[in-house]
Amino acid sequence: MDGQTITAAPVLILLGPPGAGKGTQARMLEEKFGLVQLSTGDLLRAAVAQGTEAGKQAKAVMDAGGLVSDDIVIAILRDRLAEPDCAQGVILDGFPRTTVQAEALDTLLAENGQRIDAAISLEVDDAAMVTRISGRYTCAACGEGYHDVFKQPSQPETCDKCGGTQMKRRADDKAETVASRLEAYHAQTAPLIGYYDDKGALTRIDAMGDIGDIAADMGAIVKTATAR
Ligand code: AMP
Repeated sequence: MDGQTITAAPVLILLGPPGAGKGTQARMLEEKFGLVQLSTGDLLRAAVAQGTEAGKQAKAVMDAGGLVSDDIVIAILRDRLAEPDCAQGVILDGFPRTTVQAEALDTLLAENGQRIDAAISLEVDDAAMVTRISGRYTCAACGEGYHDVFKQPSQPETCDKCGGTQMKRRADDKAETVASRLEAYHAQTAPLIGYYDDKGALTRIDAMGDIGDIAADMGAIVKTATAR
């Protein structure tokens, strides 16, 4: 194994409540910097769709807006991180979500001679999150994101990016589930802001503004972090 390459690969963490724009920003950073977006939510949804043992255990918890057990999520992330494309650097979107996961990540990275380059906290107003989340949907073919109020495709039900005509909404984006997801965030994930601040790795970004402005701020942080 080429230790140099692995040590140099940047590792970035995106923190923020559901609806803060972690997925959107991670995809933009992926395109701009050639990093791999690693979303444990996507990995879990794939496990549910494939009917794996982990997926079966995770489904009810996800539908209720709670957090899947640390053991399951850490195992899924560890397997994905070991795939060759991750050697070019990763943006963790939605992981870690608990202190146990954060500590497991530190151990996992240390074993590979890696460390966290930056943890970016997307700071938003809780009340706005319910509107943001409950209106969002994506193109089933390419994953481009849309919103009932903020970003509609130019032709109804037709993706601007790939022309796909199948749109889908996440089962857990219902208003009633969003409240549970926000509660889980504040109780279990928000303490990680202090965890990374103590390590000197944290940057906070106001994520209520324009997507392009936020992306520019994020890009500057990533550039600094990856140049070290
Ligand atoms: P997301 O797509 O990141 O909003 O995640 C969707 C759902 O997957 C969450 O509401 C949780 O139920 C589950 N999930 C995703 N990532 C994690 C994680 N790191 N720890 C525990 N549960 C997770």
